[in-house]
Amino acid sequence: MDNYDKASIPSLADCLKAADETKELLINRGCYGEIPRLLKRFYQFDGVYLVADENTREAAGKQVREILEGAGIPIRGELCFPARPRLHAEYFNITAIKEQLSALPNPAETVPIAIGGGTVNDLVKRAAAELKRSYLCIPTASSVDGYTAYGAAILYDGYKQTMPCPAPLALAAEPEVLAKAPPYLSSSGFGDLASKIIAGCDWIISDLAGPLGAPVAERINTKVWNMTQPGLLDYLERSIDAARGDSDAVIALFEALAITGFSMQAFKSSRPVSGSEHLFSHVWEMDDLSIDGVPITHGHKVTIGTLAATAYYELFFADPSGPPSPPRDYIRPSPSQRMLTVSSAFKGSRGHDLVVKTALEKYMDEAAVKRIREAVTDNYRELRERVLARLLPYGKLKEMLGKALCPLRPETLGLSRQEAIATARRAQMMRNKYCLLDLSWDLGVMEGILSRMEKSEEYLW
Ligand SMILES: [Zn+2]
Repeated sequence: MDNYDKASIPSLADCLKAADETKELLINRGCYGEIPRLLKRFYQFDGVYLVADENTREAAGKQVREILEGAGIPIRGELCFPARPRLHAEYFNITAIKEQLSALPNPAETVPIAIGGGTVNDLVKRAAAELKRSYLCIPTASSVDGYTAYGAAILYDGYKQTMPCPAPLALAAEPEVLAKAPPYLSSSGFGDLASKIIAGCDWIISDLAGPLGAPVAERINTKVWNMTQPGLLDYLERSIDAARGDSDAVIALFEALAITGFSMQAFKSSRPVSGSEHLFSHVWEMDDLSIDGVPITHGHKVTIGTLAATAYYELFFADPSGPPSPPRDYIRPSPSQRMLTVSSAFKGSRGHDLVVKTALEKYMDEAAVKRIREAVTDNYRELRERVLARLLPYGKLKEMLGKALCPLRPETLGLSRQEAIATARRAQMMRNKYCLLDLSWDLGVMEGILSRMEKSEEYLW
């Protein structure tokens, strides 16, 4: 799947045509005017219910309301979350949306409309699915890949998880609104897009380890792979000025994120677009990182995660002759030792029980680890070549993220460099989705890599 030609890269229109949940995605000037048509064509409804926050109501909500009223579409209610504190994708917000929707006179025929960024969209997406409703999405920023994705990233019981729920039937994204979004939202989207580099590398690792017994290590699906990987660097280059409000760049970024969302819609999981770098971010989401009380965006946490994961990849594959070796006295921890380590790493965290359960579920027996170790050693040269062909070298990645106005240092998340590097240990415990963090832990080489990263003068400075 590493050899491809331009003709095999699906366009946004191809992805939309192949999508099994989303029927229409408009991204053109004046597309809000088509919302009444979208409602009539794809939904059974006798009214709508608007969900926004104070910022997105100003940016788009008022305009959408006027258009709906002008078309005689009944607005059954509106929920507007405060702008401060910044909205969280916490499950209790889904409960609030569901309660309000259910209290309407005819809830079964009221279409929820999400007007906002990734958080508003994820909350409405899951609330609508739980009520067995279809919703319509009005994205207001090129900030995440979740608009067209299957699933919503929700903090539930203190644990960030992808809860299953279908993508919207229709979306209308007004380029002028996207271009006027605050720069930090566009740079968040850029960071989320850059993370797909690592997601691709991790899928290669998973493809190798899956058949040998690694749990939840999916094989590569070429059709889905082609949706995100071959065109990625080109899209990143075209999106680089998005945070400066360049409208072509903002549209390119939105399109690229929408395509990666469609790849999740096709695969019914986040595997094609999320790997080790998102695991760093999930830990920081549990830790609720903020600066001066303002929570750090998903995309900015993912950006630092992508830098950390790139450093990790470079160190793992540094030696052309073979994978790193564990220390001579290395003894693989037993399941009970492992449980104690994971339990103490997440002591006091609301997600403690779920993380311990996950880490034990993915603990492999010695025979499976041996098969994987042998396969990595036997196929090392080819594996290394494939990974390095995808990976953007650390220096180039940093330069590109800098141009796109993304954060570059852990301190911008309120973390010391040492804390950011140490996060790899907890990130590896988090999810049952095989990636390089898992492989390096299984081989007993994680500590060696982390100590080299700490001593380096290049990484995460
Ligand atoms: Zn993401």
